[in-house]
Amino acid sequence: MISPDRIVSTTCPYCGVGCNLHLHIKDDFIYRVTSPHDAVVNHGNLCVKGRFGYDFMYHPDRVTTPLIRKTPQQPGARTQAFDRSEWRAVSWDEALDYVADRLVEIYQRDGSQALAVYCCAKATNEDNYLLQKLFRALFRTNNVDHCTRLCHAGSVVALQMALGTSAMSNTAAEVIHSDCFIVTGSNTTENHPIIALQMKEAVRQHGAKLIVIDPRRLELCDFATLWLPLKPGANVPLFSAMAHVIVKEGLVDRAFIDARTTGYEEFARSLEPFTPAYAEAITGVDRGLIIEAARLYATARNGAIYWGMGISQFSNGTASALGLIHLALLTGHIGRLGTGLNPLRGQNNVQGASDAGAMPFHYPGYMPVDDEESAVKWEQAWRIEPGGLNRKRGLTTTEILAHAHPGGVRALYIMGENPMMTEPNLNVTRQHMEQLEFLVAQDIFINESGAYADVFLPATSWAEKEGTFTNTDRRVQRVRRAIAPRGQARPDSEIICDLARRIEQRLGRPTSAGWEYTSPEDVFREMAGVATMFAGITYDRIDQVGLQYPVPDETHPGTPFLFAESFPSGRGRFFPLAYVPVAEEADDEYPFILTTGRLLEHWHGGTMTRHSQLDALYPAPHVEMHAIDAARLAVKTGDAVRVSSRRGSVVLRVEISAKARPGVVFIPMHFSEAAANLLTIDALDPQAKIPEFKACAVSIQIADPTEAQQLSAPSLRGRY
Ligand code: SF4
Repeated sequence: MISPDRIVSTTCPYCGVGCNLHLHIKDDFIYRVTSPHDAVVNHGNLCVKGRFGYDFMYHPDRVTTPLIRKTPQQPGARTQAFDRSEWRAVSWDEALDYVADRLVEIYQRDGSQALAVYCCAKATNEDNYLLQKLFRALFRTNNVDHCTRLCHAGSVVALQMALGTSAMSNTAAEVIHSDCFIVTGSNTTENHPIIALQMKEAVRQHGAKLIVIDPRRLELCDFATLWLPLKPGANVPLFSAMAHVIVKEGLVDRAFIDARTTGYEEFARSLEPFTPAYAEAITGVDRGLIIEAARLYATARNGAIYWGMGISQFSNGTASALGLIHLALLTGHIGRLGTGLNPLRGQNNVQGASDAGAMPFHYPGYMPVDDEESAVKWEQAWRIEPGGLNRKRGLTTTEILAHAHPGGVRALYIMGENPMMTEPNLNVTRQHMEQLEFLVAQDIFINESGAYADVFLPATSWAEKEGTFTNTDRRVQRVRRAIAPRGQARPDSEIICDLARRIEQRLGRPTSAGWEYTSPEDVFREMAGVATMFAGITYDRIDQVGLQYPVPDETHPGTPFLFAESFPSGRGRFFPLAYVPVAEEADDEYPFILTTGRLLEHWHGGTMTRHSQLDALYPAPHVEMHAIDAARLAVKTGDAVRVSSRRGSVVLRVEISAKARPGVVFIPMHFSEAAANLLTIDALDPQAKIPEFKACAVSIQIADPTEAQQLSAPSLRGRY
């Protein structure tokens, strides 16, 4: 038994649950991860990623030296370089001077719209605050976004429209106080495993009724009173039919509607066509199940709704989320313990990165960039001349790359993200990446996107830096430096400040703090000075246990659930909805619907988990399909097939699964050798601009023997 030199308390770097970790360290090496039984979020429980997925930081592929490409890259002819021999190791001074020179040159030549930045949902609040500040304050652009656009943008927009806010209303662990809860569009067991444990406890030990609404027969269905297996993308008719039943049967909370909402009468009229029979025809769900689900939820004492990206990742993602919000407003299941509207956020700090302003429409604290009062506040905080900040909304992630052409975006700075795995329709994304004039990657590995970069800036992992993450239920928690940085890697915040000073000097454009922060805490203090939802959060106060914002002052205990008295917008608002089908339905040529998502053992674009021991647990992608479809195709588990859409094609092995619904296949998003996003469609939700990752039409053929042989090759990375 090894005896640790020290144990450092920190927060998990993977999903939005935000489990508390104890890193056990011997000789500056993390050899074990545990969690204390009194951990407020997870009570000592950890999933496989939190417990075993920390070793990526020691992987030999990790880059710990600044690099510049040996062959200068030209727009239109940009290539990927994974091999270290194609890069030149340089000093930090050379790398940062080069980046500053090129960014300033492009800015002075083409203006603020020629620059864009991808912030990072894996990085800390402080890192994201600084990077958006650099691009807004120095380059005067709002072309600032991150992968929140690709996961819950539809939820964020819907919640802003209806309630004037965008985070989870309640604490996930409150599910044990619900007597009925809906889980929809969320494979919680694999994506938020510790929250799934709490949900199962609510059912088994507290007798709660669980309603699962999802095309796949997920593990949670074993615990459910009802499972409504809807067709992918048919969320609006299903939720509207539930609302129809609630209104027609007089199950609404009239007092709540009168006191707290607006637009009910018009909304109730708009529900007329959404009968259970109509919804059955569209969604494929038996009308009896729809009626029963509506009654169960509406008559609960405390009803709650939890949802995932199976709601938001559609071209009707905003309308789908509004459909859920309506159910809570009709029944008054919000503003109390064990109720609420709870979009389960994906990455460890996607909530925090959004809060910290890593979005094109908002400054930190969701202050709109096109609102004069908000802009003035940040100009004063950053000591920028009046009118200096750009009042025009910036481009979203997908739009940034779509604008990568002469006259559009010329330089892109990517911190920790991997659009060449996470954007839809990757063959087109690749063409856009190739068009960039200058690309910077700041990361721990050269991933599929960093391989296109001109400059690589090696950052530290989460265990080598200080800061905070904000979990899915708005809890701001500490991240601590447990070990020394590997090689020359530097914390993201230090890299950004060092670069900002060089840019500031070249532009002659001084801002506040001179980018000379004494610590990440200093950065947090600056953000909380303007973004009042953090005003009462200090590092001292969250030393042991995080605080859930809003925390308006230093005596405030934090806010486990929101909207007890009112909504930020005053009254909750109903919006009549129309059903808009998915952009691409199955047809004779492409007879299956593909839906994509995550696996328990892996995370997002795979940059971390595929460099950890977790990769051995789940080393290769599969296409999950129903036995009926497998019989139709004459394939069995393990057979190699080619899955094709109108945009691309991948080869991978079949897995026949009881989870699958006939006609719908599932491919996980983590594997570059069969990237699901080569197939997905880049249709966008018109309001949230989130792509439709959850539904596109595909065909499936048996792979030829040569293709099947290739599957056993150790890595096909970089083949697309
Ligand atoms: Fe980490 Fe999420 Fe697993 Fe908790 S549930 S250990 S936060 S990956």
